[in-house]
Amino acid sequence: MATSHFALHQPQSLSQALDLLEMHRASVRLLAGGTDLVPKLKVGALKVANLVSLQGVPGLGAVAFDEGQGLVIGGTARLAQVAALPEVKRLYPGLAHACSVMATTQIRNMGTVAGNLANAAPSADTAAPLLAYDARVTATNKKGSRDIPLAQFFAGPGLSVLEPGEIITAITVPPPPPKSGSAYQRLSARSQVDICAVGVAASLSLDGQGRLAHCRLACASVAPTPLRCLEAEEMLSGQAPGDDLLDRAAQAAAAAAKPIDDMRASAAYRRQMVEVLSRRVLATCLAQAASLAQAQGGAA
Ligand SMILES: Cc1cc2nc3c(=O)[nH]c(=O)nc-3n(C[C@H](O)[C@H](O)[C@H](O)COP(=O)(O)OP(=O)(O)OC[C@H]3O[C@@H](n4cnc5c(N)ncnc54)[C@H](O)[C@@H]3O)c2cc1C
Repeated sequence: MATSHFALHQPQSLSQALDLLEMHRASVRLLAGGTDLVPKLKVGALKVANLVSLQGVPGLGAVAFDEGQGLVIGGTARLAQVAALPEVKRLYPGLAHACSVMATTQIRNMGTVAGNLANAAPSADTAAPLLAYDARVTATNKKGSRDIPLAQFFAGPGLSVLEPGEIITAITVPPPPPKSGSAYQRLSARSQVDICAVGVAASLSLDGQGRLAHCRLACASVAPTPLRCLEAEEMLSGQAPGDDLLDRAAQAAAAAAKPIDDMRASAAYRRQMVEVLSRRVLATCLAQAASLAQAQGGAA
């Protein structure tokens, strides 16, 4: 029951897409996989006069890893593509997990990582792992491109700092440090097809003495935007890992959450699960990092 009427534009180059955004500035939306946008148009929750499809724009669909630059996810790269790349599975297991368990097979085959971020839902499953990896978003308009740290990208529920006329052309994830680990875990009431009620991602690395050199912890669905847990990260950095430290960091993450009650979970349950999942993902990351340290012959 489509209640929205719009013109569909199908540019064949990035510059044509940017021209169309400029030309129809007053009422235009980009269309990538359409898995967020089309349901909203169908029920009339969104009305827009012009849709600019990115599906025919060449050069945006690739996902590639390079040891110098890291992982580069193009602006129309699909969730399933990211999940399938061997380097993502090996070096970014938190992101691989998010992209392989969220939604359904059909949605993962259509939906894109850029669309998941641009939609800016607090529950966006790729957001927490990408925050934990210090990812950057490249936004391009007719004047050029700018890089936005993902930590500064979200502005509120459904809101980002993208300006009208900008297209996400890439998401770049730095190469993981040696002796590092990362993980993402999510909970939802009705298996993975449901939007997550809580998601927690972490990444960390060990120094030569086996202390935590670098640590990131990020959550989904427990605040108005995907959330970095800065106090927990500070608590962990430079410390020798141990049960007590991980417990305290998980408690700090739970304290940083600002969850709400909704049909998916109560605020109290969400806060409690932030602590539980934080503890679990940190332990998983540590085990991965320790095993790499052992394989590389360093301290763990
Ligand atoms: C049944 C179902 C289950 C789902 N389950 C989950 C889930 O478990 N977890 C989850 O996180 N999400 C889930 N989603 C939401 C959705 O599938 C994802 O957010 C998906 O990644 C969106 O990508 P897309 O390419 O389809 O975006 P679109 O629908 O094409 O676009 C979404 C928004 O992003 C903008 N946009 C798209 N690409 C760009 C770009 N390159 N530059 C700038 N703006 C852009 C669009 O204008 C639009 O505002 C689900 C959706 C459905 C229908």
